Amino acid sequence: MYAARVDPPWDLDAWRTQARAALQAGVEPAQIDWSDDAAPSLLAPTPVTALPPVRDAPAVPGEFLASAARVLAHRDPHRHALLYRLLWRLANGEPRLLGNALDADVHRVRELEKAVRRDVHKMKAFVRFRAVPGEHEAYIAWFEPEHHIVDLAAPFFMRRFAGMRWAILTPYRRAIWDGESLQFGGGARPDEAPADDAHEALWQAYYAHIFNPARLNTRMMRQEMPVKYWRHLPEVHRLPTLVREAGQRVREMAERDAQPTRKPAMVARAAKQVAALEGEGDSLAALKAQLPECRACPLWQPATQPVAGEGPADARVMVVGEQPGDQEDLRGRPFVGPAGQLFDRALADAGIDRALLYLTNAVKHFKFERRGKVRLHVRASSDEQAACAGWLRRERAALRPERIVCLGVTAAEAVLGRRVALLAERGRWQRASDGTPVLVTVHPSWVLRQPAGAARDAAYRGLADDLARLRRAPDGPEAP
Ligand code: SF4
Repeated sequence: MYAARVDPPWDLDAWRTQARAALQAGVEPAQIDWSDDAAPSLLAPTPVTALPPVRDAPAVPGEFLASAARVLAHRDPHRHALLYRLLWRLANGEPRLLGNALDADVHRVRELEKAVRRDVHKMKAFVRFRAVPGEHEAYIAWFEPEHHIVDLAAPFFMRRFAGMRWAILTPYRRAIWDGESLQFGGGARPDEAPADDAHEALWQAYYAHIFNPARLNTRMMRQEMPVKYWRHLPEVHRLPTLVREAGQRVREMAERDAQPTRKPAMVARAAKQVAALEGEGDSLAALKAQLPECRACPLWQPATQPVAGEGPADARVMVVGEQPGDQEDLRGRPFVGPAGQLFDRALADAGIDRALLYLTNAVKHFKFERRGKVRLHVRASSDEQAACAGWLRRERAALRPERIVCLGVTAAEAVLGRRVALLAERGRWQRASDGTPVLVTVHPSWVLRQPAGAARDAAYRGLADDLARLRRAPDGPEAP
């Protein structure tokens, strides 16, 4: 017998090192002990890595390696041997083995993969971050996966929450994102994660908003949201009420859909509502406090919260975007999602400090379409933009910026009050009706929508170049 040790046991490179050495030495699957509990001793079997190679390493299909990465994450103690058996057969006369779904080894590999995929899905769905007390924008989540899936799932959280610092703690491993790099460390205890925080109420409100009573199926719900995850899910406290009220909400939805739309009336009503909230000498802080009361258009209802402007009250430059996205809606802050991160990069490349800018949006609530669990951004209608225009007008009056930068056509039209041909007008200074210099450019999300590669690089450079014009005065070459 020979010994093969995979450390850590879920690591593809560690398994490949052992498997390649065994394969090159011509060691048959039945001759290898893959168990990791054998104590080192003089009588221990020879490690496969100590054997001389007698053949070259064979080429391995990419499909096999992708499957192996998932299978290794399973806790099945026989998975290392199973994968080696499959590899051995692929390299010894069965190159099409993976296409044979009736083969017992292939079937078992598919079963393990399915279980791991399901566990990754659960982790994506049920991880809940909690704010770290005393730290700005830092979050920790506790999670107990069934399998060794932290390395497989962590890249998803890195993409989804790229703009915040976070750690996911599990009993066997932790993943840490510091905003720039993803790192892994040893296991943790539940008490290393913070208990409830202020975001708990927000999660509950968010869940109430995305809960669709017309698709309520309590049996499926229990299957999809196993009870063992409940204690980490703040929204579970809202479930009994939501289930109880589902019938009434479905009836209300049907009645609402049957109502004829009266758009002009909506805009007039909106102007009245926003004006009713208007006070003498509004401050930015007062506007922010009033915004959650706005019901001037239907966008407040499905959104989690309004997203007010953010920045110094004496900022000289106001940046206006279109409307909050998924991340902004969840966190209640403008420009913190993927487009906001690209905008930050473009500002840095243009030599502009974001902390000096006042950032806001033309429309204050996130408009979206639900596709399964994903919320896809939908452009606000012209009526909704018109309904929200009063808020931007009041922000401008409170801040009195020396210059305004508009990102995207919705922002440009809201500020300039006319139709804008964005690509023709971008990158040059214009004047708003009150004389404020206005620079129009593309929205960062437009850059992200360009095909990856040369087109996106060029779009990004165009945005950074346009922003760099902020460092010159509208009518002259000097920096502000
Ligand atoms: S989008 Fe604007 S107008 Fe509509 S509810 Fe929100 S704040 Fe009010």
